[in-house]
Amino acid sequence: MTTVKLEEIVSLCKRRGFIYQGSEIYGGLAGTWDYGPLGAQLKRNIVNEWLNYFVDSRDDMYLIDSAIIMNPKVWQASGHVDTFSDPLVECSNCHNRFRADKIDTAKCPSCGKENTFGEPRQFNLMFRTNVGPLEDENSLTYLRPELAQGMFVDYKNIIDTFYPDLPFGIAQVGRAFRNEIAPRDFIFRSRELEIMEFEYFIRESDWEENFEQWRDGIHGWFEKIGLDKDRIKEVEVLEGDRAHYSKRTIDFYYDSPTLGFDEIGGLAYRTDFDLKNHQDKSGKNLEYRPKDGSDPFIPHVIEPTFGVDRYFLAVISNAYRIDEVNGEKRNYLQLPKHLAPVKIAVFPLLKNKPELTDKAKEIYNKLREEFGQVIWDDNGNIGKRYRRQDEIGTPYCITIDFETLDDKCVTLRDRDTTEQQRIPIEHIIDTIKSSL
Ligand SMILES: [Zn+2]
Repeated sequence: MTTVKLEEIVSLCKRRGFIYQGSEIYGGLAGTWDYGPLGAQLKRNIVNEWLNYFVDSRDDMYLIDSAIIMNPKVWQASGHVDTFSDPLVECSNCHNRFRADKIDTAKCPSCGKENTFGEPRQFNLMFRTNVGPLEDENSLTYLRPELAQGMFVDYKNIIDTFYPDLPFGIAQVGRAFRNEIAPRDFIFRSRELEIMEFEYFIRESDWEENFEQWRDGIHGWFEKIGLDKDRIKEVEVLEGDRAHYSKRTIDFYYDSPTLGFDEIGGLAYRTDFDLKNHQDKSGKNLEYRPKDGSDPFIPHVIEPTFGVDRYFLAVISNAYRIDEVNGEKRNYLQLPKHLAPVKIAVFPLLKNKPELTDKAKEIYNKLREEFGQVIWDDNGNIGKRYRRQDEIGTPYCITIDFETLDDKCVTLRDRDTTEQQRIPIEHIIDTIKSSL
């Protein structure tokens, strides 16, 4: 159920340096966004959480970072050159173009004329580019539209250098590019996106068991980033709607306060489609040789995939709160503390009293060393400083006042309850650490 307007989130993101429009001073570029300092930090915390959960906590996962530009033969073998497309229609009156499956083609949504659309044609979503100085068909390639092919192409390298036992996974986090006909909903559907994904290589006979295991794993991940499980819905993708390589796919939908139910992740059984095609097209043997000497075979693959930007939007929409403190309206982000871009803000009560600022700097430096994501604010009255931190979701504020110099205590204020407590300086780190 939508309870927060998307524009409120867009405006907060811009105002407080989470996300800016891409190329803004030139009027922007449709479907591109820039993460500002707070956004980059929040995104990084989400990605780190994913890496901890799916990669670092396991001993069967290999993290790679493959090139964005790949040999075009990769995209022919993967089927993207032929089939990675959306149906496009053009209005014969105003010449605007639309995704045929997203509009009612009886009447143009732009100029309002009726019956101006012909038959849809397939529009390939890959960005084309040329490698080297010659711009011809021989130098043509694409920016990757997905990460998976990087894992498939490096599969043989991993096998040859690490000799993993089956099952094992190859994971990566990185940018992908899709020339969407109609980018929409802020960072939800953009032309440049970030994906976290892994390919989990298995024996064909084990696919159902592994599919179920990762299905649970994905729900565990939702919990890690604070998405309410009552707002998650699984949608079984029917045969005609599945990607060309998949034998079973579940899409995960999240009921976001800004967008309502929309897709937030997927789990696909890609069979041996990709490795088999790459073996055929490259001429390289991509079979797995079991260590017990049994017959070699091409492994099958389960692929859980996650759009970083979509999680970012879900997490921030989810955290958006308006309440009242001392009779005044307050906007705040109730971000999970471990994801907050700033963990602690340090305030000297006054900025022109060296005895206060020196002490505050000392505390600030110590906290920065421990937590990294700590900021300093000495501007305006304390109430205003609290509001500024609330709005970006900082879980803790620490104020150093004149009493601090005598009793060696500071005021620690909690974002969610707005409660303040005096605690000894030497207990700050432990108190905050135990709550993150
Ligand atoms: Zn039109």
